[in-house]
Amino acid sequence: MASIKLHEIAHCYNAGKGAGVDYALKPLNQSWENGGAYALLGPSGCGKTTLLNIISGLLRPSEGRVLFDEKDITDLTTEQRNIAQVFQFPVVYDTLSVAKNLAFPLQNRGLANDVIERRVAEVLQMLGMQAKANLKARGLNADDKQKISLGRGLVRTDVEAILFDEPLTVIDPHLKWQLRTELKKIHQQFQHTMIYVTHDQTEALTFADKVIVMYEGAIVQIGTPEELFEQPKHTFVGKFIGSPGMNVLPCELRGSDIVVNGNKVALGRPVSVSREDSKGLELGIRPEYVKLSADCGIPVDITGVEDVGKRIVVRSKFHNSDVNIILREGEGIPGNPGLIFEPSKINLYQNSYLVGTV
Ligand code: ATP
Repeated sequence: MASIKLHEIAHCYNAGKGAGVDYALKPLNQSWENGGAYALLGPSGCGKTTLLNIISGLLRPSEGRVLFDEKDITDLTTEQRNIAQVFQFPVVYDTLSVAKNLAFPLQNRGLANDVIERRVAEVLQMLGMQAKANLKARGLNADDKQKISLGRGLVRTDVEAILFDEPLTVIDPHLKWQLRTELKKIHQQFQHTMIYVTHDQTEALTFADKVIVMYEGAIVQIGTPEELFEQPKHTFVGKFIGSPGMNVLPCELRGSDIVVNGNKVALGRPVSVSREDSKGLELGIRPEYVKLSADCGIPVDITGVEDVGKRIVVRSKFHNSDVNIILREGEGIPGNPGLIFEPSKINLYQNSYLVGTV
């Protein structure tokens, strides 16, 4: 396993075609620790696959260098980089049995038959596919085929990193949960460097120790699931993570107070943004930290109530902003409701980026 460093990496698919620089991946520096479990999370088109393919060697970056354990491998092929990659759709040999599909990457490395047999048996067990070991892949369903693909990615123990590109997209939701848990266990047991691309926050947050959130070709935050939840560094992260995401309301600074459309909001700590420089200010507060109170707080109109499994989400409107509230157990909607924000959970943003409070 290796640590991975991306030095001044950027990618432009139309480089050299005279259309100006249109980065699919904007210039970035990023290090991945040896043995870490990372998720690359972001909406479609934000550059996740581009970044993953630059690491695996399927794509040569238009700028910058890729280093494994400080060694520059930018010019090496995928095979020379010694990487395993699992794609969104199954990559299997239809005419081979499940066991032979799994054995293939090991036979390619010239491993002894008994070592191969042992390792294939371990992976079959991991995937719960022992009973299907001798069946031809051709006759299996999409779930099983994708499990074989996962197995082929996991079967070698000598790879520098294992990269997953939305590997559970075609998998049945129940099985998805099982496989995700299994992958997490495999990581804990073998400590491979793993990078997992997904646009599904649940997948990212359950799999990874560190989640890298991407937006419009850039990394906007790297953090633990808790950091992304409590202190999103960009309003996009706040809105993208959580269900529903963070409420974002335009606000202004009056003296040392935060004012939301004429309503003073207690922050409980001084703001470090200067008043002269307070344009584009927004307040971010998660629905979990908003309370509804009778006859006080910021007056709102309740527009809906949704029972979403274990929680009740109240939808409300305040001027032009939608504000979601998650009711705590035993709480109801009072008459003449007003919003109360938990002061310590308020984040301030300027031009979409988190700004300081002191
Ligand atoms: P998805 O989740 O849909 O796979 P992604 O986050 O992985 O999206 P990328 O596939 O890396 O995003 O794409 C980033 C940007 O680069 C997008 O605007 C996409 O249209 C563009 N792009 C990707 N591949 C190519 C290509 N081969 N040629 C030109 N543009 C491309």
